[in-house]
Amino acid sequence: MADTKVEQLSVNVVKEPSMMTGAVPRKHWMDVPVTFKPGNYCYPAKKTIVEYLSKGLPGVFGEPREWKVEDDDWLLPENWVEIILQGMRERLDKFRSFKVFMDICVRCGACADKCHFFLGTGDPKNMPVLRAELLRSVYRGNFTKAGKILGSIANGREMTLGVLKEWFMYFYQCTECRRCSVFCPYGIDTAEITAMARELLHLVGVGTNWILEPAANSNRTGNHLGLQPHTFKQNAEFLLDDIEEATGVKLNSLTFNRKGAEVLFVIPSADVFAEPGIFTFMGYLLLFDHIGLDYTISTYSSEGGNFGSFTNNELMKKLNGKMYAEAERLGVKWILGGECGHMWRVVHQYMETMNGPPDNLEVPKSPITGTVFENAAAAKMVHISEFTADLIKHNKLKIDKSRNDSRIVTFHDSCNPARGMGLLDEPRYILENVCNSFYEMPENTIREQTFCCGSGTGLNTGEIMDLRMRGGLPRANAVKHVEEKHGVNMLSCVCAIDRATLLALMEYWNPNVGVCGISELVGNALIMDGEKERDQDLRFEELPGVAEAAAAAAAAEAEAGESGNNEEGA
Ligand code: SF4
Ligand code: SF4
Repeated sequence: MADTKVEQLSVNVVKEPSMMTGAVPRKHWMDVPVTFKPGNYCYPAKKTIVEYLSKGLPGVFGEPREWKVEDDDWLLPENWVEIILQGMRERLDKFRSFKVFMDICVRCGACADKCHFFLGTGDPKNMPVLRAELLRSVYRGNFTKAGKILGSIANGREMTLGVLKEWFMYFYQCTECRRCSVFCPYGIDTAEITAMARELLHLVGVGTNWILEPAANSNRTGNHLGLQPHTFKQNAEFLLDDIEEATGVKLNSLTFNRKGAEVLFVIPSADVFAEPGIFTFMGYLLLFDHIGLDYTISTYSSEGGNFGSFTNNELMKKLNGKMYAEAERLGVKWILGGECGHMWRVVHQYMETMNGPPDNLEVPKSPITGTVFENAAAAKMVHISEFTADLIKHNKLKIDKSRNDSRIVTFHDSCNPARGMGLLDEPRYILENVCNSFYEMPENTIREQTFCCGSGTGLNTGEIMDLRMRGGLPRANAVKHVEEKHGVNMLSCVCAIDRATLLALMEYWNPNVGVCGISELVGNALIMDGEKERDQDLRFEELPGVAEAAAAAAAAEAEAGESGNNEEGA
């Protein structure tokens, strides 16, 4: 069965040379051109989207036009080579890390087999070392003496259309997950190289629609789905009805755009819109009501996810600035962030340099436990898992973990919170306190070494589903291991993109395993004041033991009736 699936997937993904097909490269990698075919590339950005983004950020998204990836002519500007080389020169001057990463790789190969795309496709150009070489070779050929004089003998090359197409193919087969950098003895961060390559591609108008449209929506309406403020509010309020139906508790603490609240809560917008994120959202709301948190949600900065971070520094900065502008407008003390991935990478790694420090906010302090989150002193923003773990640690939550007994849970460390902010222990601490059955996947697939979902950094698009299933294979394989060993049936995570991508991945590779956010499990376990006798979880699935209890009650009733009859008869 598994072989059939691999065979099926290989139809649309590069077949040779490949470990999958056993074909051995017969040409130098520089001489192997890319072949685009349906399933192995993302659709280009629509002209109208590029036009819109270019109005706010002139010059960084290139000439708006309609073009097709499979066409020979990409309708590039006449001087496109000059634009790319000039862009590269500017970035080499501006970002010291970029220059260092271009110079210091010794091609030891320690990173080679660490990328999920290489493991899933077997394509040598998906080895991180070779992926970076796609750009490094142009750097050598144009910016080093040896490369300029010796060309390919010194592993340098010119910028050609073939090279540009190769960049488009392979820098959109990298999810910037940074797993490879964990194993590099020099600390080379291939994700940063991919980020630079994508910036350069954008300069000549080569970008993907699945990234630029959500980014444009975020800029226009505050969230990547393009929901207007009233729709966002309505969606969130519908979920209050669901909470009441499941728990019997009518929550009154949710407010929008309320000035003077203590905390601004920012979520990835998918959490108010689609399953399974909506269950995570219900969990957040139950938690806040349970502890009496004074919080509000902004309908204008209604997206934690930063789709700009998949494009260039300029758009990333602009979208990140929205959260802080809203915090200032509403006069909150600090920001609490939901279960999101790239929001946290941006906040922890880039925000302070780009937009900070946000001096109008305070160092976050939990109003319930008094804990001061010194780790968030610069960003003024706390992750919901840190916040919840602190509440549990201080015995502030009433919990019945048996309500999650039908879930045999494992945890996927989402790349950005794990490798980008070191959020490794808090989610596990929460899981241990709200579930009775939690099992780790193998050591080399979790924590800092976690495998990507295979669809991050804007690759969560339907037209490359084959590629995504291949890129996610190492993660799916580790889930399969705990499914077979421990009967795991639920894959938990703290990232909205993961909640969407892992769902498709599990449906394909491990169809008996569901996907959830950790806050959903928290919401299930919370014993709320005034709740009804709980017989359903937040998905309206029967709680464990309910059917057995009902059967026992019915049996007892029948028995009582029978003995009554016997007594009457006697
Ligand atoms: S591990 Fe680092 S130095 Fe070695 S090949 Fe990879 S990027 Fe280069
Ligand atoms: S950052 Fe992740 S996806 Fe990109 S090359 Fe490294 S391991 Fe592969």
